[in-house]
Amino acid sequence: MLVEQLIKKTIDMQGFRVKSVKKDSEILIAELIPDRRFAPRCGRCGSPGPYRDQRPVRTFRHVPLWGIPVTLRYKPRRLLCPKCGTVRVERMPWTNGKQRFTTAFACFLAVWARRLPWYTVARLFHCSWSTIAAAVETVVAYGLEHRDLSGVTLIGIDEISRKKGHVYLTNVYDLATSTLIWSGEGRKKDTLQAFFEFFGKERTAQLQGICCDMWQPYIDVIKECAPQAILVFDKFHIIHHLMEAVDQVRRDEINAKGKKHKELMKNTRYIWLKNPWNLTDNQRLTLGNLEKLNLKINRAYLIKEAFRIFWSYRRMGWAAKYLKKWFWWATHSRLKPIRDFAWLIRNHEENILSYFHLPIHNGTVEGLNNKAKVVSHRAYGFRSAKNYILNLYHSMADLSMPKILHTFA
Ligand SMILES: [Zn+2]
Repeated sequence: MLVEQLIKKTIDMQGFRVKSVKKDSEILIAELIPDRRFAPRCGRCGSPGPYRDQRPVRTFRHVPLWGIPVTLRYKPRRLLCPKCGTVRVERMPWTNGKQRFTTAFACFLAVWARRLPWYTVARLFHCSWSTIAAAVETVVAYGLEHRDLSGVTLIGIDEISRKKGHVYLTNVYDLATSTLIWSGEGRKKDTLQAFFEFFGKERTAQLQGICCDMWQPYIDVIKECAPQAILVFDKFHIIHHLMEAVDQVRRDEINAKGKKHKELMKNTRYIWLKNPWNLTDNQRLTLGNLEKLNLKINRAYLIKEAFRIFWSYRRMGWAAKYLKKWFWWATHSRLKPIRDFAWLIRNHEENILSYFHLPIHNGTVEGLNNKAKVVSHRAYGFRSAKNYILNLYHSMADLSMPKILHTFA
């Protein structure tokens, strides 16, 4: 029968045969039996061994055919494994052993789970949400086990928040490939320590550059675990801090000057934050008018724009000289948020200037972090950080999938 041939085409059946395919109400059930010409193989080590007994029947969901659910039924044998020296359940090449679905079906679901919310995938293919989670877990576990991190020399560390800033995750990226290496809950010292523990001494010793935000717990751990790597504070984070300072000046001024000023400042927030060449004609006109009023926010704006020039230097010496001048201006601006920012820069100057030795930044990672946020929407109903992290690996680590005979999706 054709369906039997299709099943043989889609799963590794060596040592097994399809006995029959029946349609039971709305499900296709394929009965599998052992091929007596082959001895059963140990589920742990793969060695063939003498037959011991047979276990009750197990079912495995397989990829649906023309929208009809397909289930495989099989009674696994046990054998006395000569290598393990004990009785083991045999290896069934269509599954990893524990799950109630075939590896092919796990890959199939996982491919869809990268593109659609998990609950949608569950509904589309008549599975439970936890089946989707288990499928992704199976595929990710395979990918993590089979990936090669030996060539990583530049990493970027970034944090993302879940649940509106109540829960933080620390993500570590390979800056050369823009892929996620590791993700862990929290953003404390022990979070990053856990990464270095995972990464291992040998690979850590090969790191040449590390890029992150000016966040003391990270800094401490990096200096302790990877002292040879050049630490570069991320340009995009620095700019973000500056933007926040500028916006704080705007808000402080509104609070101080009251209603009339608030009216004047209406809809101007992005004018002060945007790059000037991205302004619309109208925004440019508004900015031109506001510039004449000698406002605090305008002073903050000019200092922000002046800071941009810092990055355009090619030599560290000149950049340092410029930063000194800028620092004087910023600290004499009589704008507290700007002054605070300037001191933040001064206190971290060494590892900001190291950018001119090793110009790395988390720019692509920033894009990835946005992707992570999109992923988190897809993660709707993720319930736990474990599943959330699972999905990050699945979507952003560029992991390889288990090898299957046929590509379904
Ligand atoms: Zn064995």
